[in-house]
Amino acid sequence: MKVLVTGGAGYIGSHAVRALQRAGHSPVVLDNLVYGHRDIVTSLDVPLVEGQVGDRALLEAVLSGRHPAAMGEPVGAVLHFAAYAYVGESVSDPAKYYRNNLADTLVLLEALVDPAQHRLRADGSSGPMPIVFSSTCATYGVPEQVPITEDHPQRPINPYGSSKAMVEQLLRDFGAAYGLPSVIFRYFNAAGADPDGDLGEDHNPETHLIPLVLDVMAGRRPYLQIFGDDYPTPDGTCIRDYIHVSDLAEAHVLGLGRLLNQPGSHEPLVYNLGNGTGYSVQQVIEAAKAVTGHGLLAHVAPRRAGDPPQLVAGAEKARRELGWLPRYPQLEVILEHSWAWHRRRHGVA
Ligand code: UDP
Repeated sequence: MKVLVTGGAGYIGSHAVRALQRAGHSPVVLDNLVYGHRDIVTSLDVPLVEGQVGDRALLEAVLSGRHPAAMGEPVGAVLHFAAYAYVGESVSDPAKYYRNNLADTLVLLEALVDPAQHRLRADGSSGPMPIVFSSTCATYGVPEQVPITEDHPQRPINPYGSSKAMVEQLLRDFGAAYGLPSVIFRYFNAAGADPDGDLGEDHNPETHLIPLVLDVMAGRRPYLQIFGDDYPTPDGTCIRDYIHVSDLAEAHVLGLGRLLNQPGSHEPLVYNLGNGTGYSVQQVIEAAKAVTGHGLLAHVAPRRAGDPPQLVAGAEKARRELGWLPRYPQLEVILEHSWAWHRRRHGVA
């Protein structure tokens, strides 16, 4: 099936493109390349449409198969990754986040429910094509308890999280009113890299812990800042649930399969994606030392605004309902794959 992957030039989107290819689908990528990488899409050997998700005319051309990149075949489903995801920037420039993450997504959803874009379903009825949406544990805000299950209240504490929570609401309303089928995945901390070594994490600017630790170990940055060591956790540093990006990608293929094979339910299917195991910043540093054989200079810095002490997924639902079984749950393996990519991408010996 032809599958539109918005944000397919980004970190998680590019891994999903690979997983779709392996499952026999034909992905077409739509990306504005603001943070995505053209060379990654080239290496995946899939068509790239450079543009905004909010460009309705462009979307219609791609969805209907009229756009040259779609090569005459209408799109049958959408994986929607495209979003800005810098929490700090979302606080200083919320308009950018609501325009890109929320308003542009509204345009996409309107295009999907347009009768001109309806598709024949497996049961013979016709309706809007399914969408799998990338949401985040940031929609929960500060957790009342961990592990966090899907029924935990959603009270985001920054505009990034709010923009994602608002799209979740759109999906609920569009499902009820227009029959739009959707899966919502709430990611915990995406990490690691494709085990084959040619896809990985390359943000600019980089704000995530694991690539920053590896940058310091590779001599590309002078030191790491540990944002707070006075949290109510065993070693005082924040605890996160790191999930391998290839495992995230695989969940999307399963979620898509579920939507295609079980038409009729228009209530979004919501799943946390995490391993259910938390590691502190200090534990990540120690594990990275063991994997790379390098030390690092680290300074304790003030807490980063908006960081909850502990985020750990209750992710049984995805395992139970989708049969999702993470292949790389061990932090050491996640770090090994990140390190292999890091060295290759940055030419570290
Ligand atoms: N962190 C840190 N130093 C850094 C970057 C991150 O101590 O330079 C901490 C951060 O406070 C959080 C954890 O590492 O507790 C994971 O942060 P990251 O930005 O990777 O992901 P987030 O949990 O914010 O989505």
